[in-house]
Amino acid sequence: MVPLLLRSLQTIGRLSFAATIGMSLVAGDVLAQQTGPSPGSAKAIFGAVTLPTQGPPQSIGFYAKGCLAGAVALPADGPTWQAMRLSRNRRWGRPELIGLIERLSRDAAKSDGWPGLLVGDISQPRGGPMFNGHASHQIGLDADIWLTPMPANKLTAADRETLPFTTMLAKDKFLTINDRVWTPAHARLLMRAASYPEVERIFVNPAIKKKMCETWTGDRSNMGKLRPEYGHDSHFHIRIRCPAGSVGCTPQAPVAAGDGCDKTLAWWLGPEPWAKPKPSTKPPVKPREVMVSDLPKACDALLAAPAVGSVRAATYGTKGAGAGAETDVMPASGNTPPGQIPQQ
Ligand SMILES: [Zn+2]
Repeated sequence: MVPLLLRSLQTIGRLSFAATIGMSLVAGDVLAQQTGPSPGSAKAIFGAVTLPTQGPPQSIGFYAKGCLAGAVALPADGPTWQAMRLSRNRRWGRPELIGLIERLSRDAAKSDGWPGLLVGDISQPRGGPMFNGHASHQIGLDADIWLTPMPANKLTAADRETLPFTTMLAKDKFLTINDRVWTPAHARLLMRAASYPEVERIFVNPAIKKKMCETWTGDRSNMGKLRPEYGHDSHFHIRIRCPAGSVGCTPQAPVAAGDGCDKTLAWWLGPEPWAKPKPSTKPPVKPREVMVSDLPKACDALLAAPAVGSVRAATYGTKGAGAGAETDVMPASGNTPPGQIPQQ
C-alpha cells in the first residue's frame, strides 16, 4: 500500500532530519511509536495531570520545551466548532489562543464557506511534553485544526474518538494534492488563519504549501506564515507568538520575508527530506527520555501548584476562567496531589 510506504518514508526522513538538525526543536509533530510514556519521564508526569493551575496564564519556556500555568479549556462545543478526541484532555491553552480559535471558527463560517472547525490537540492542562503526537504544543500556544469541515450534527463523544482523518494527499502520487478532497474553502481557511497578527506560523504539508503558492490569487502578504512540514496533510497547526508582556516565554525567530514559494519549498519537494538515512554499522541509540529536570526550572514548581477546582471553572468563556480570579474557582482539595484530582 502506498500510504504505508509513504508513511514509513516520512518516518525515516523525519528521523534522519531530526538527527541532523534537531528538527524536534524547530517545529512540528512527530509520529509516535510508543504505546505509553516511560514511567518517571516528563511525558508521563505532565500527561497524568488532569487540571491546570490556578492564577494568571503563563507560558514557560519554548514551544517544544516548556510548560503552561493558568491554562483555560476550549469548550468542547461551540456554535462553530467541536473539539475532537476529548479523552486525550488536550484542549488547554493560553486564553489568547483559545480566543483566537473561536474567532477563526466564527470568521471562517461567516466569510469563507467553512462551516466550523474540528479542533484537535492544543496542550495538556499544564502543558509539557506529550507522549504521542507532537514535539511542540508544550506552552499553550499551538493548536491543531482538522482539514475536515465540521459536520452539521453534533458528534457524539465516541464519534470524536474514532472519526478518521482525511488526508489531502493523492494516494498514488508523491506529495500531490487530491483535488477530490481539497477545495477553495480549504485555501480560504488557511489564509484566514494566517491573517491574524498574533499567528506567527502555520504548519502544513509541503504539497499543501505548493498548492497554495500555485492557486492563491488574493493577498499574499501572509503566505510566508504557511510553513512546509512533515505530516500535516489532514490537519494544520497554528502557532501564535508569545503574548505581549509574557515573561518566561521564549520567542521563536520571525519567519523570513517573502511568500516562501521559493527554494525553501523546492527543497521540501525534492528528494533530500525524504531520503533514507545511510545504513549505519553502529547499533541505533535510543534517544534519552526528557525528564522534568530538562525543562525550565519553573516547570517543576508548576507541577506542585494548586489546581483549579474543576474543568468547568477553567473553561474559556466561564466567568473568571484564566484571569487568575481565584474567587470564582472552587477551592482545590488541599491534600490531593496534582494529577489525581478528579475531573468534573
Ligand atoms: Zn500540531
